[in-house]
Amino acid sequence: MMEIKDCYGCSGCVAVCPNGALTLVDVVERMDDKCIKYRICKHVCPAGLIKIE
Ligand code: SF4
Repeated sequence: MMEIKDCYGCSGCVAVCPNGALTLVDVVERMDDKCIKYRICKHVCPAGLIKIE
């Protein structure tokens, strides 16, 4: 699971994830084990907050 502390909650990355791996909790983004590293969320985030190894 990953938490993105500076997320401001636009929910763009949640909308594009094909595997439902992202959840917005207040304004903190969480990524669970369903992430298949498709990486589209990384390109959608307007603040460049998502880093995927
Ligand atoms: S796209 Fe970026 S700012 Fe928007 S919800 Fe996702 S992590 Fe947060």
